[in-house]
Amino acid sequence: MAASDLPRFQVLIDGEWRDPASGKWLASINPATEEAWCEIPNCQQDDVDAAVEAAYAALDGPWRDMQPTERGQILIRLADALPDHAARLAEFEVADAGKNLTESTNFMTFCARFFRFYGELADKVSGETFATPFPGIQAFTHRVPVGVVAAVIPWNNPLWLLSMKLGPAIAGGNTCVIKPSELCATPIIEIVRLMHDVAEIPRGVINLVTGEGEPCGRVLTSHPKVSKVAFTGGPETARHIVANTAHNLAETTLELGGKSPVIVFDDADLDNAVQNVIGGVFAGSSGQSCVAGSRALVQRSIFDEFVDRLVAAAEALKVGDPRSADSQMGPLASLAQVERCEQAVAGAVEAGAELRTGGRRPPGLAKGYYFAPTILTIPNQDFEIARTELFGPVLVALPFDDEAEAIRLANDTQFGLAAGFFTTNLGRAMRLSKAVRAGIQWINTYRLGAPMAQIGGFGDSGKSREGGIAAMHEYTKPVTVWINTNV
Ligand code: NAD
Repeated sequence: MAASDLPRFQVLIDGEWRDPASGKWLASINPATEEAWCEIPNCQQDDVDAAVEAAYAALDGPWRDMQPTERGQILIRLADALPDHAARLAEFEVADAGKNLTESTNFMTFCARFFRFYGELADKVSGETFATPFPGIQAFTHRVPVGVVAAVIPWNNPLWLLSMKLGPAIAGGNTCVIKPSELCATPIIEIVRLMHDVAEIPRGVINLVTGEGEPCGRVLTSHPKVSKVAFTGGPETARHIVANTAHNLAETTLELGGKSPVIVFDDADLDNAVQNVIGGVFAGSSGQSCVAGSRALVQRSIFDEFVDRLVAAAEALKVGDPRSADSQMGPLASLAQVERCEQAVAGAVEAGAELRTGGRRPPGLAKGYYFAPTILTIPNQDFEIARTELFGPVLVALPFDDEAEAIRLANDTQFGLAAGFFTTNLGRAMRLSKAVRAGIQWINTYRLGAPMAQIGGFGDSGKSREGGIAAMHEYTKPVTVWINTNV
């Protein structure tokens, strides 16, 4: 099929759906079929400028005077509409990124909760009053929007990651320019359509540009009229974003990657631990999750038995068509992701790792960017595969002897996003919680989340926090007002 025969999506700028000014388009490849299924605008400088100008102008329009409760209603209308559109939005995630259809459809309820949470918070943001040292002088703060927010989104969980940015941004009265990943833009385009058509967001408050990091992402994040960049993605891109914001001095929130440890002690409920370690690294999007528990640290006394059980559980996972209700793991999002996993596994084996299962494209699947659930054992962490975020279904397991060694190994990484502790010793779990440098921790479970609970990391996992009530302070700023009551 010629590229021009593919369905084309448009971007939303100043309340109008538009083709890219440049006339350039990008094809989106379905990872399960390896075929292009649609085209999205490949926005360049002109489109980004128009989107930011529209967002900037909207800050001074009727939006500024809209009551917070009304702003919140927009988000609540979106949350209300999501269940009716869940199947359709999930179809777009499957077509663009190969996500599991059932899981993706169910996940929309989770996303709706975030939009509702921030909708309900919109009118609960308040300032402070001060006891001033001056007679007759009062002082207080009220909170105002930060300005134009650039929301830059990765491909693996686009709608949820958008909800954590758009929710507090809209509730706080900001205007936005959203830039989804070029690998998974259509679900974002479609939710923006819902914001526009169903939730009735005023013109210019939300704008959408699609395209590649260069130039689209760079132009957006360095634009002089952008006041805040809310970014989720990889650490290398984050370094570019920080450099870009040297131009506009925009505030940043950076939610980045991880190489998260799951620590299993010999007193753990092992059935529960196996289930959570397997779910923690292979579920979600076939390991393409920022919190994937991709390093299993297992106490030496149970190491062999536990790894055998992990291998059996991994081999029982059904890899296949993401649209099939039987499939537990679909393809990876791109061929580059598959090649990255293949190369990393080959390099690890050459360096002395033992490949226990997987490490290749699963047999019997003629097409699609599939990679089998993979488990390697390594004797220590001096292996590149123990340090690099692969963003694929690859687990490395290594033994430790005692609690002190487990903590040392867990922290021996440049990342610090998530960690799981499996033990029935509560005192030990709490000691680990203090000692392990990870912003999200689970004890005897993994991967739970909810809008009121913040997420975020340390080091190369980013230094910010997203979610929770506190996000309302990230998306509003205090203005201090002094009043002379003596006149
Ligand atoms: P990525 O960093 O390649 O891309 C993220 C976004 O940044 C995309 O929209 C991309 O087009 C844009 N971009 C790329 N270069 C840019 C530039 N120079 N300037 C501005 N924008 C630019 O990430 P990805 O491959 O889409 O996603 C995977 C990464 O995201 C992983 O590292 C994963 O761990 C991380 N992630 C983190 C979280 C979290 O909450 N901490 C959640 C999901 C994913």
